[in-house]
Amino acid sequence: MSFYFTLNTGSSSVKFALYKAQEEPDLFLTGRIERLGPSARLIMDVPHERVVRELGAIDHASAVVSILSKIEPYLEDKQIIGIGHRIVHGGRAFFKPEILTSQVIQELEQLIPLAPLHQPYSLATIRAAIQAFPGVVQVGCFDTAFHVGHTFVNDAFAIPRHFYEEGVRRYGFHGLSFDYICGEMRKRYPEVADGRLVIAHLGNGASMCGVEGGRSINASTSFSAVDGLPMGTRCGRLDPGVMLYLMQEKGLSAEEITSLIYLRSGLLGLSEESSDMRVLENSEELFAKQAINYYTYQVRREVGAMAASLEGIDALIFSAGIGENSARVRSSVCEPLEFLGITIDQEKNKANAIEIGTGSVRVFVLPTNEEQVIARAVAEVSPKTQ
Ligand code: ADP
Repeated sequence: MSFYFTLNTGSSSVKFALYKAQEEPDLFLTGRIERLGPSARLIMDVPHERVVRELGAIDHASAVVSILSKIEPYLEDKQIIGIGHRIVHGGRAFFKPEILTSQVIQELEQLIPLAPLHQPYSLATIRAAIQAFPGVVQVGCFDTAFHVGHTFVNDAFAIPRHFYEEGVRRYGFHGLSFDYICGEMRKRYPEVADGRLVIAHLGNGASMCGVEGGRSINASTSFSAVDGLPMGTRCGRLDPGVMLYLMQEKGLSAEEITSLIYLRSGLLGLSEESSDMRVLENSEELFAKQAINYYTYQVRREVGAMAASLEGIDALIFSAGIGENSARVRSSVCEPLEFLGITIDQEKNKANAIEIGTGSVRVFVLPTNEEQVIARAVAEVSPKTQ
C-alpha cells in the first residue's frame, strides 16, 4: 500500500492528511500545525489516538519538515507516491488541478500580487515538499479554479476597462469546498444536483456560490477572499469610500488597513469579543448578539442575490463549521426567506440533519471536505506519471 499526502496552507496554519492511495482515496490520518510563528502547535489524529505537540518557533517551510518527521512512524515501509497542495490563487490560467512543474510554479509566482497574504505561503510549502520528495508528483489544486468561466457581469468591476484586462477581476474563492459539495449532491441527490444551487460555506472564512448544472455562476468573494460575507476576522463587503476615509482622514497605512480588514474585523470586530461563533452564541453581551444578527442578515441577503442571479433557487446548502453546526444561524437565515419557498423543520435543524427543508426549495446541511478533493486530484494524476 502507498499513500497520497495533502497539504492545505493557510496564513497561520498548515493542515495535512495522508490517504491510502486508491481510486477513491481513503483517509488514514489527518492533522494541522496551527499558530505558525513563535509558538506553533501540532495536532494530529492518527488511528485511535490524538497527538498534540508544542513545536516552538516554526515557519511554513519548516512546518512541512516537522509534519514529515511526525508522520514518518505511521508510514512504516509504505511510500508517499503523490502530494497535493491547496493553492489559493490560480488566476484565470489554471481551471483544473495541475502538476507543479517549474514552469507552473513560475506562473504561480507571477500571481503573488493578486494574493500577497496567501500565495507566498503556498509556494513556500510547495518548495519544501519538492525538496523533501524529489521525483514525487506534486499537484496543485486551486481555490479559484471552480469559478473560472463566469460571465462578464460576474467577473468584472465597474472600473476602467483596462484593469479587467490586467487581471482585476472577480475570481472567487473556496472552490475546493464548493466542488466537494457539488460532488456530494451528485452522489446523494442527483435529482436536484444539476439545478440551481446556492451553497453557503460558513467557516472561519465564509463565502457563497451560486451553481447551475454543476458549474459556478457567481461567487460572493471576488478579487480577494475578503469581499462578500463578514467572516471570523474579515470584514466582507465594504464601501471603498471607507478605505479612502481610513487612509486620508485617519492616516492608516496599507499595512494597517490590511490588518484591520483581514484580522480585526468581521465577527471579532463587531462583537469586540471573539471571532468564534460558539463563543458568541454563548455570550449575553449586546455586541455579540448584534454581530450574529449582522452575520445572518448578510448571509440571507446573499441568498437573495444568488437566487436572483440564478433566476431561481432549487436548493440551499449549508456547510463548514458554522453552516454544519449552528442551528441558530441556519434558522435566522432561513426563517424570513419563506417568500422564496425556503422553510425548515426546526427539530431536524436542531439535530443538524442532512435535509432540513420543508418547502419547495430543498435545504441541506452537508459537511465539506477540501482534503478529499485534493487527494482525488492526486489520484487522477499520479498513476499516469509514476
Ligand atoms: P476554517 O475556515 O478554519 O476551516 P471551520 O470550518 O472549522 O473553519 O469553522 C470554524 C467556525 O465554526 C467557528 O466560528 C466555530 O465557532 C464554528 N463552529 C464550530 N462548531 C460550532 C457549533 N457547534 N456551533 C456554532 N458554531 C460552531
